[in-house]
Amino acid sequence: MATRFEWIQKELKNLKNSGLYNNIRTLGSAQGAWLDVDGKQVLNFCSNNYLGLANHPRLVEKAKIALDEYGVGPGAVRTIAGTMILHRELERRVAAFKHSDAAISFQSGFVANLATIAALVGKEDAIFSDELNHASIIDGCRLSGARIIRYNHCDTLNLEQVIKENEGSYRKALIVTDGVFSMDGDIAPLDRLYEIANAYDILLMVDDAHGEGVLGKGGRGIVDHFNLHGKVDIEVGTFSKAFGVVGGVVSGNADVVEWLTQRGRPFLFSSAVTPPDVAACIAAIDLLEESTELVDTLWSNGAYFKKEMSALGFNIGNSQTPITPVMLGEAQLAQDFSKRLFERGIFATSIGYPTVPQGKARIRVMISAAHSKGDLDKGLEGFKAVGKELGVI
Ligand SMILES: *Cc1c(COP(=O)(O)O)cnc(C)c1O
Repeated sequence: MATRFEWIQKELKNLKNSGLYNNIRTLGSAQGAWLDVDGKQVLNFCSNNYLGLANHPRLVEKAKIALDEYGVGPGAVRTIAGTMILHRELERRVAAFKHSDAAISFQSGFVANLATIAALVGKEDAIFSDELNHASIIDGCRLSGARIIRYNHCDTLNLEQVIKENEGSYRKALIVTDGVFSMDGDIAPLDRLYEIANAYDILLMVDDAHGEGVLGKGGRGIVDHFNLHGKVDIEVGTFSKAFGVVGGVVSGNADVVEWLTQRGRPFLFSSAVTPPDVAACIAAIDLLEESTELVDTLWSNGAYFKKEMSALGFNIGNSQTPITPVMLGEAQLAQDFSKRLFERGIFATSIGYPTVPQGKARIRVMISAAHSKGDLDKGLEGFKAVGKELGVI
């Protein structure tokens, strides 16, 4: 009998048959280099926990203190009664850490993008968007109602060309790009993007979710990496990756930040981040300001792993960061590869369409400062064995 859910069942079956179905694993432990996944101890190569902060004792301690002092919930949206001293402190600390004029925090990086883009541009405006931008940027662009003009990935010549082609056809415009492209690990040419934005008087926004705590001096992010302090209008970040917690942030121009307190819809209509989360984010900044050790370890781990994977004969793309994409092509091969790694106690998920283009399926290895050299060597051994079994190397 036909039901109104039949189309869903059919679509789900298609996903499964084409190797594109998300098999969701369940963790029975805290984040770290090793995880309990579905009851099995495995080496973790999938988390965005770049610095190992998700279960760091200093963050946990600060969260507990905040819990005792402020409770579990914010009780309101930021603009009514949900702004606590902690939220203000976090925003001040982020701005100081990044040497930016001001900062405003959100519930997540995803939400920060939705809030910001929709508040800055509208129907009569245009957005120049890198073709490989993150889903949350794409959704923010759609939500804004502005005309979306895509440019070729990291191609500033193409960007300038499409700006020229469209000059005069919009009221105002925004250039938006990921900072670090998480599926490939390459870095947006923010220095050139700034020159173009400046020359054509266009707003410039970078989403540095994977550069926060990774790029720049001691993890200060992509604006610091390119030494563009005060020049990039909007730098979006997340606290859910290197910072190990949850939440999003926009730092940059003070007028933009103030505007978002008035017109960033999730700031006005969705409750604030919880006190323990905010306190843990502040503790992460404390750690990063005290020492660059974790960031340095992340980079040396990434360099070691990438060098050894190349030597084994894997195609690891063109990553400029510790993110290591292991390019496999077909989604089914990537899924088989991941499954076999898991049998060997290595947790590294495959990524296929629509997260990456068709035919560009891969296993994305997320290196962390939490990995020891022994962990990395175990991972390399596993990749070597499965790579040979499946004829990839
Ligand atoms: C992960 C990610 C986000 C979302 O961040 P959350 O804080 O997890 O919502 C946004 N943009 C980019 C580029 C990301 O990689």
